[in-house]
Amino acid sequence: MASSTRCLIAGNWKMNGTLQESLDFVQALGENPAPEHVEVAIMPPFTLLHPLASPFREKGVRLGAQNMYCETSGAFTASISPVMLRDAGCHYVILGHSERRDIQHESNALIRKKMDLAWEYALEPILCIGEHLEERESGSTNAVLKEQLAVLAGVDGGVPLTVAYEPVWAIGTGKVATPEQVRETHAFVHEELKRLGHDCRVLYGGSVNPANAADILACEGVEGALVGGASLKADSFTQLIEIAAKVA
Ligand code: PEP
Repeated sequence: MASSTRCLIAGNWKMNGTLQESLDFVQALGENPAPEHVEVAIMPPFTLLHPLASPFREKGVRLGAQNMYCETSGAFTASISPVMLRDAGCHYVILGHSERRDIQHESNALIRKKMDLAWEYALEPILCIGEHLEERESGSTNAVLKEQLAVLAGVDGGVPLTVAYEPVWAIGTGKVATPEQVRETHAFVHEELKRLGHDCRVLYGGSVNPANAADILACEGVEGALVGGASLKADSFTQLIEIAAKVA
């Protein structure tokens, strides 16, 4: 990890969490959950952004959203804009998560439109990229990642940006990429980012948990983790932060 880069442990709660459950989570995090050299963020569902903004801020945990719409306001029923995310206290917004790409058919063009708007409203996108199992097995992982990273073509290298490499076959499945796969793929992602003029942090995501986090976070080119399932319980999330604090 570059010495100027802080390791990020980011929890994506997906469609989970009631108000009471989230307040219990905050309480169980303890007084000072984020060590100095590890950045901690949570992306709760939209309904919990406002109530969690202040409790998370007090604990040094950054707030993020799981998605946003590509317009600022208007007749877009059920959509949430970057203006609303800023108003709710978000720093991050996840864009291009494989569940959005696969279930909602989000294209690279739409993702780029959202990224441009996120930057306009001072949000930092966490751009998710990753290959499906068939793509890995057929040897096209790098081609897939290259195409997904092409959304950054022509984007100024100075914009706030984090990329999360998440092999789709590892998300929520309990299957984790081997350290060799992680190292190799992260090296490719960094190289491709450099070619596009970006030198940003790259996270790994896909079934990260307290049992495998040390090995993953120790891989060269891994600068944190985007965590789904293991971020839902304060004890496993806290363990991940503690592991990152030792390894990073
Ligand atoms: C994710 O949703 O980005 C993710 C990595 O989920 P999980 O940790 O549950 O695989």
